[in-house]
Amino acid sequence: MLEGAEAGFATATGMAAIFTTFMSILKSGDHVVSCSSVFGATHAVFTKYFPKWNISYSYFNTNNANEIEKLIKPETKFIYLETPTNPAIELIDLELVAAVAKKHNILLIVDNCFATPYLQNPIKYGADLVIHSATKYMDGQGRVLGGIVVGKKELVHDIYLFGRLTGPSMSPFNAWVLSKSLETLALRMDRHCENALYVAQKLEGHAQLENVSYPFLPSHPHHAIAKKQMKAGGGIITLTLKGGYEAAKQFLDKLQMIKISPNLGDARSIVTHPASSTHCKLSEEERLKVGITPGLIRVSIGLENKEDILNDLLSALK
Ligand SMILES: *Cc1c(COP(=O)(O)O)cnc(C)c1O
Repeated sequence: MLEGAEAGFATATGMAAIFTTFMSILKSGDHVVSCSSVFGATHAVFTKYFPKWNISYSYFNTNNANEIEKLIKPETKFIYLETPTNPAIELIDLELVAAVAKKHNILLIVDNCFATPYLQNPIKYGADLVIHSATKYMDGQGRVLGGIVVGKKELVHDIYLFGRLTGPSMSPFNAWVLSKSLETLALRMDRHCENALYVAQKLEGHAQLENVSYPFLPSHPHHAIAKKQMKAGGGIITLTLKGGYEAAKQFLDKLQMIKISPNLGDARSIVTHPASSTHCKLSEEERLKVGITPGLIRVSIGLENKEDILNDLLSALK
């Protein structure tokens, strides 16, 4: 209902939602077009397992409709994307990509995990299916794993039939926890966004930082797209430290309140160094292609007092 979808199917994890969706739609010989910066495990499904099943994929990393169209083949089944992307926080124009999908009569599937249905509704722009890792903002308190796929009734019905036979179901207990979590989604997202914007504004231009990226900062290269399709900027900001890998490592070690973890969307603020953790299996060249420099830090801004978050980041920078 929050996504404006006709139907949905809940799963044990976000990856279960992604995998069940892929397996219900794809067959040997099919092809997929995807944005290049996808969640690490999704990238692994494309690169490690798709070839085994004779399914191919092509990556795009642009907002140019022509570039995306060039990748579409007769056997392409869907376009897949995340926006904002992880971890570089780039935005993809949903309306533009949905028009390309429609023109070629293929599906558009959007992983809307970073934005949540409170901030962005891809179905409104023409997406056929929307996927969430409920492990992140949906629960928002780091308590349970979960996933969901929502969208067109016939598609969700096929996914449901496949899921019923292959076992990725959400546990009843987690379903109950998540139904309570949703009652506070709006309140939590308002606070995440307020805190993140505040911290991003205060850190922009800091002498130790090469860059601060947040969709609702006017300096963000895709600010106009963010304003068009998002209600607010979300809870994730990225910082690029001058001094690369060593500087990033030192910075993380100096944080007092904010914890190091590859998770995001928790009530507590969390920092991640993608190059050495979530994206360590990519080669340096692959990382740079999706904007992961050695000095890049992803900060999932929590619900704490915004001055406490800012002060912890400032003292570690110092
Ligand atoms: C975490 C995440 C997933 C996977 O979700 P799990 O619940 O951890 O399996 C998928 N997509 C994005 C964007 C994520 O951040």
